[in-house]
Amino acid sequence: MNIHEYQAKAVLKEYGAPVSRGVPVLKVEDAEAAARELGGPLWVVKSQIHAGGRGKGKFKEAAAGEKGGVRLAKSIDEVKQYVKEMLGNTLVTVQTGPAGKQVNRIYIEDGSDIEKEFYLSALVDRVTSRVAFVVSTEGGMNIEEVAHATPEKIISFSIDPATGVMPHHGRTVAKALGLTGDLAKQAGVLLGQLYAAFVGKDMSMLEINPLIVSTQGQLKCLDAKVSFDSNALYRHPDIFALRDETEEDAKEIEASKHDLSYITLDGAIGCMVNGAGLAMATMDIIKLYGMEPANFLDVGGGATKEKVAAAFKIITADPKVKGILVNIFGGIMRCDVIAEGVIAAVKEVGLQVPLVVRLEGTNVEIGKKYIRESGLNVISADDLDDAAQKIVKAVKESA
Ligand code: GDP
Ligand code: MG
Repeated sequence: MNIHEYQAKAVLKEYGAPVSRGVPVLKVEDAEAAARELGGPLWVVKSQIHAGGRGKGKFKEAAAGEKGGVRLAKSIDEVKQYVKEMLGNTLVTVQTGPAGKQVNRIYIEDGSDIEKEFYLSALVDRVTSRVAFVVSTEGGMNIEEVAHATPEKIISFSIDPATGVMPHHGRTVAKALGLTGDLAKQAGVLLGQLYAAFVGKDMSMLEINPLIVSTQGQLKCLDAKVSFDSNALYRHPDIFALRDETEEDAKEIEASKHDLSYITLDGAIGCMVNGAGLAMATMDIIKLYGMEPANFLDVGGGATKEKVAAAFKIITADPKVKGILVNIFGGIMRCDVIAEGVIAAVKEVGLQVPLVVRLEGTNVEIGKKYIRESGLNVISADDLDDAAQKIVKAVKESA
């Protein structure tokens, strides 16, 4: 699960990490009071969306200008104007894709005078099974580009969970960033705070870009992007409460209510499959025959007829879907349950696109019989290869 920058900064502040003072704003009318509370003379007006690259982003609406989703304001009037230009408008950044994201929240921050910008992040390193830190002097930039062009400018190290952050880790960071004296000390303290926050809240990723040295000689987290391990959210109701469903895909939210593993993709063929491996193989073979999957969906092992019906409805409700491929290998999952679920869903919402069903395994004959007797317009297939060819052909013919 992802959260907004202002929420991430509040979490980091709980652990003592240095962040600017700020006020989140949901309405244009609240901008002035927020700006007055902070006092100025410099403010930063920051669009809150679950995507990075906001500073270099552009709004779709001409009225919002091409000034980006993070702007420095030098007066209260400028703050008000920027909030007005951003709220409700659609910000397109390298991370949002061309459709962009609507800005529904703004964070107004006390502006900092920047001396230097660095990059610092923490993530779970699956190779060492430890939390790893990544630091670089090349802050504020696209870190993927830095990693590609100048990999020597990226330093990383992992933390032994038995000892936690040690003084030598702080010295490593200070050396990597060229910090001495009090700033080196601040780097060590900050590292401990970020590690405590990361472990304490079960984060899966924490990115501070930029981490700055202010002209007053203070290290500060100027941006914060945090993701949490969804499997651990039951331990953190305070974090779960920060979820902003408007930032998430509506189909994925609906799927999560039914405990389905579902991910929206860009293609035209909806897939209903059991088992993640079979789902991946199904997506691959659709591509092999020249089309793209509209989703990843694993209905799981012990799905009920209701769950299958819910899954089918999520697929058919997607206007991008021009054909559906049901591919089931019944082990624990029974083919008759799948057939019943599909039939129930079609009875309720209808079926406007070609449907290919490939069933194999437990109760396959009963499943096929249900589908035959339902009178549904189903193209049946014998194996995965056959099924993929048939759905691609049917979609092309119906286009
Ligand atoms: P991102 O573009 O989504 O990564 O958003 P950031 O929060 O990183 O802001 C983009 C850029 O705006 C930063 O890299 C900074 O260069 C600049 N910026 C953000 N906050 C301040 C501030 O308080 N003072 C100054 N001078 N620049 C800032
Ligand atoms: Mg940033």
